[in-house]
Amino acid sequence: IKIKVTEIDCPVAVSSAFEGERVRKDTMFAEFGGNKTECWELVTTGELAEMEDHKITIVGPDIDDAMFAGKDVVRLPMGVVVKVAGKQMQKDFETVLERRIHYFTNYIEGAMHVGQRNIAWIRLTKEAFEKGFRLKHIGEVLYAKMRSDFDKVVDKCEVTIYTNAEDVKRLGEEMVKPIYSERDERMGALTDESVDEFYTCLLCQSFAPSHVCIVTPERLGLCGAVSWLDAKATKELDPMGPNQPIVKGEAIDERLGIWESCNEVVARDSQGAVEQVTLYSILEDPMTSCGCFECICGIMPEANGVVIVNREFGDTSPVGMTFGELASMTGGGVQTPGFMGHGRFLIGSKKFMSAEGGLPRIVWMPKELKDDVAERLNKAVFEMTGIENFADMVCDETIASDSEAVLEFLESKGHPALAMDPIM
Ligand code: SF4
Ligand code: ZN
Repeated sequence: IKIKVTEIDCPVAVSSAFEGERVRKDTMFAEFGGNKTECWELVTTGELAEMEDHKITIVGPDIDDAMFAGKDVVRLPMGVVVKVAGKQMQKDFETVLERRIHYFTNYIEGAMHVGQRNIAWIRLTKEAFEKGFRLKHIGEVLYAKMRSDFDKVVDKCEVTIYTNAEDVKRLGEEMVKPIYSERDERMGALTDESVDEFYTCLLCQSFAPSHVCIVTPERLGLCGAVSWLDAKATKELDPMGPNQPIVKGEAIDERLGIWESCNEVVARDSQGAVEQVTLYSILEDPMTSCGCFECICGIMPEANGVVIVNREFGDTSPVGMTFGELASMTGGGVQTPGFMGHGRFLIGSKKFMSAEGGLPRIVWMPKELKDDVAERLNKAVFEMTGIENFADMVCDETIASDSEAVLEFLESKGHPALAMDPIM
């Protein structure tokens, strides 16, 4: 018997109308993640018989804990585990459900959710707290939405929210990261040439109405949360949903990555705003960016390469702009040649702006990002060029961030971009 869940036990409103709501510092009551604390989220599949539907558990202090009395802002680490089970549930669906945590949390009046996986960032307002909103209500919302939006596959759902630093750290390392890596490895085995279909993603049209992501095996959605496998699974789960297949057909231009089929779909789904996209170029008709890209890549002409800045990095990059400044000129669903929003995982893809020479063009990245992607990046660049430990040639803020010093560093390392064709 399927029980329909429609009522949500929550003291504030829950509706897609609150999706675009930002929580600024002056109205904020509590914050999780956002560079200040660890914050991750995971959807995993359990055994139907062993699970207790609607079980919501908070392990660790809640936001009304006595230890926060008199504090300006409540800051806690957070680990969210949504365990689901159902006869129709498949492992491939986990990532699709997990991405929805972002949307469902944003539906809460007085809550803001940014990012995903272990770079999630949540803020709650004072007003929500005063109305009685507590962490268990995040659990209630996730529970209700998982059960109602995915009723085809979710028969039981449990939510556990960890807020003590020790659990969040330990589970993050021992349970969560290996699952992320396993998913990435599965995806890494596929290439654009090996499939007949790409997928669209229109989920972000609520923010950026003319934005269309084209998701391919070697180019995930720019939010970093929708891989080709995820898009494929979403299509199965929700046949009329945001991910629709594009039957690839013959390429018009393989180097730039232009397909008639992709152009048609993008023109249709952007209501004519965008007529041509290339999948592999940052200069010629690059894909549009919505607003939730994990990284922005921009040309640094004097280095004959590109810099990449991730959302978490707060300082000025060698192109003279911060992430926020770059984002304000790159977002909104328009094409901005020379700048492109993308997922972290694209750094390591051989299709990363391959029309302009690809990964060996990367000259600068924040250190945290560089360390995070180094293994895949080194492997890909080695296969492309024979260069070993490429990441060591890439400058970061601990070495230099002003243009001249970056150039000096690149020269001292014999960075390959310096010897490549002029980028523009
Ligand atoms: Fe989909 Fe792209 Fe938005 Fe990610 S950024 S949710 S792939 S439209
Ligand atoms: Zn988006």
